Amino acid sequence: MRIDVRNVSKRFQDFRALERVSLTVNDGELVALLGPSGSGKTTLLRCISGLDFPDAGEILFDGDDASSSHVRDRKVGFVFQHYALFRHMTVFENVAFGLRVKKRAERPTPDVIKERVSTLLRLVQIEQLGGRYPSQLSGGQRQRVALARALAIEPRVLLLDEPFGALDAKVRKELRRWLRRLHSDLKLTSVFVTHDQEEALELADRVVVMGAGRIEQVGTPTEVYDRPASPFVFEFLGNANRIPCMVENGHAILDGIPFARHTAPRIGDGPAIAFVRPHDLEIVSDVRALPATIRHVTAAGPVAKVEMALDGLQAMVEAEIPRSSEHLPDLVVGAKVNVVAREARVFSANAAPPPAAGPAA
Ligand code: ADP
Ligand code: MG
Repeated sequence: MRIDVRNVSKRFQDFRALERVSLTVNDGELVALLGPSGSGKTTLLRCISGLDFPDAGEILFDGDDASSSHVRDRKVGFVFQHYALFRHMTVFENVAFGLRVKKRAERPTPDVIKERVSTLLRLVQIEQLGGRYPSQLSGGQRQRVALARALAIEPRVLLLDEPFGALDAKVRKELRRWLRRLHSDLKLTSVFVTHDQEEALELADRVVVMGAGRIEQVGTPTEVYDRPASPFVFEFLGNANRIPCMVENGHAILDGIPFARHTAPRIGDGPAIAFVRPHDLEIVSDVRALPATIRHVTAAGPVAKVEMALDGLQAMVEAEIPRSSEHLPDLVVGAKVNVVAREARVFSANAAPPPAAGPAA
């Protein structure tokens, strides 16, 4: 099933929650809506699901206007973060629910329901838990039940709103892999909401980065991570050093010192902000490079995090260097070092900031 969102806007009183959002989700795709809290992700998902309606624009399912069909007939499965299971029903009955409430003509026989629910419980790997009640399950198991329940109606589209939000890191990771497999095995078209960049980058075929009711960028995980369209996207997708500088002939320059080996995209000369990932900031023994003073070192995990003040600048920057680096013993608080950016993304300092969400005009 292909989903087309065309120029969708949605207001709550005078608050613009979605502003002319357009997006295509291709048949069989797994798409992540990624953005900070309040950026409109849930509102967009609810509009796609039919639980809510846009004020303007349209949503097409395989080319047909979705608003003309009843939610029940859209063949959409939902899983919400706090989509509570029915507490008084067993796992089996929770999953069977969507089938039991079908119109009589479409309702499967009890035998078929039993068969289908068993298959689903096997699919989500909880076949032995059919007789339990939700209170007797772990968070990860409940989430699997919620997914099985959503899948029971054989949806063509699966919509998930922060489905793993409440779970701990290890379970999240496991469920993520499993969802990826499930999505491709069942040949679903899926849209999931998350504010977790790692989850979006790891799981999705394409990521839709949202900010303040608008789409900032759509692309594959590699595209949005390596070629962010705006400072907002760069900062949202990972740790970022922000270095105010000048661009001259395509080079990022600070205090007369070119400090990036590679600068992209190509922008005109003038004041700019260079964005550098901590792992792209290198500590070098070249005194012609940018001078800095170490303020803090955290050496736990695979990389050491080195916080530095760029000399003559208010800005603090952070470098991540491998714990195995031979430089590490010299990196102590107060040490004078020199830094170079392997890669800097530059944006003109004069570029207009993205429009903020807020009261509509
Ligand atoms: P997200 O899922 O990205 O965190 P939402 O789509 O839930 O964001 O909300 C976007 C904005 O719209 C938020 O500022 C939220 O407060 C507002 N909003 C959402 N639903 C309603 C509602 N029913 N009434 C009023 N404001 C709402
Ligand atoms: Mg939300």
